[in-house]
Amino acid sequence: MTDAKATESAHLVRFARKADIDFIAGEGCWLTGSDGKRYLDFVSGVAVNNCGHRHPHLVKALQAAAEKPWHVSNLFRSGAQEHLAARLADLTFADRVFFCNSGLESAEAAIKMARRWQFERGQTRRIKIVALHGSFHGRSFAALAAAGNEEYLRGFGPKCEGFVQVAPGDIEALRAQLDDSTAAVLMEPVQGEGGVRALADDYLKQVRVACDAAGALLIFDEVQTGIGRTGKLFAHEWSGVTPDIMMVAKGLGGGMPIGAVLARAEVAERMPFGWHGNTFGGNPLATTVASAVLDVILAPGFLDNVVRMSALLIERMRELVAQYPSVFQDVRGRGLLLGLKCGPAAGSLAERARARGLLVLTAGDNVLRLLPPLIIGEAEVDIAMHALREVAAEAVEVAA
Ligand code: PLP
Repeated sequence: MTDAKATESAHLVRFARKADIDFIAGEGCWLTGSDGKRYLDFVSGVAVNNCGHRHPHLVKALQAAAEKPWHVSNLFRSGAQEHLAARLADLTFADRVFFCNSGLESAEAAIKMARRWQFERGQTRRIKIVALHGSFHGRSFAALAAAGNEEYLRGFGPKCEGFVQVAPGDIEALRAQLDDSTAAVLMEPVQGEGGVRALADDYLKQVRVACDAAGALLIFDEVQTGIGRTGKLFAHEWSGVTPDIMMVAKGLGGGMPIGAVLARAEVAERMPFGWHGNTFGGNPLATTVASAVLDVILAPGFLDNVVRMSALLIERMRELVAQYPSVFQDVRGRGLLLGLKCGPAAGSLAERARARGLLVLTAGDNVLRLLPPLIIGEAEVDIAMHALREVAAEAVEVAA
């Protein structure tokens, strides 16, 4: 970093450890740093750049939107917003869409919607949200309370009331929390941040039945798993289980900040005017690009590629585990949301990978998380696996 840049970066409030790379260009699966070095991007801006960088269809959509009003607020109709909502409704279980700007905003809106739905039908005691240990739903007070991760809650005063967590996969523990104070159950079909753990399809089916029996709504957080990440447009489609409410963000905008809450009509129609609101949600720039993202993800063969590349990566990752069991212990995840449980600290392995030109991230439970753009091909899988093999060999050498 030059001195001038170091001085400028000192003005940012610290909240995340940043790698000392400033990307100045991106094309497809590749990023270029200001030092000219190229990196294979298996982070995708944390499951955002599902179409890769600088996708021509997205660039064109954004350029066209830039010529029109950038923002009109939610006091007026927006054709781009209505078009995207209609498409999302057409493609999913949902009938109505509420737009916001991020994953945590979608969590906030989904939780409010579930509680308000119970309230509007006279179930005023039903405020409890049952979530899972190891989950992540964002950094607002409610989202943090839902996940219940003490480390993230520390230092912020009293925790929002009405949230409990049970062990993922334990249907009895979940059932025990479903009573006449429960508003909704909230979960990610594949826990991302918490350690890349895919919930079994059978478990999701049991959860749906349990929610129906108890009069609780089911909310799926598809912020990380949605928009093709697991090989279906939304991960819950693998199980055949549909939620009542779904949170979407990240990949939906392909890099434009956007979030959405999708809901069945029966739920959405009980929301009175003023139950929630925002200034930017459904902004024309973001919704135009999001529609273009859907064009790309839904093009024939696109999701097939995700399934094929996932199978290939999983096979190669298993070989890596067999070859370097002290470094990599287990392969986790679904589609192109994959994880390698590590022996040595996952963070140090991610740094070693970066030094070899491969960007990967970490997740809870000491997992190395792989989130490539969904457009990867065999060549990118080969390059990534080569880098990870070198990382593993080096880690073995260091430990010896
Ligand atoms: N939900 C899940 C499953 C996530 O992975 C994230 C972010 O990583 C969020 C919610 C919060 O999204 P955002 O960072 O856009 O607030």
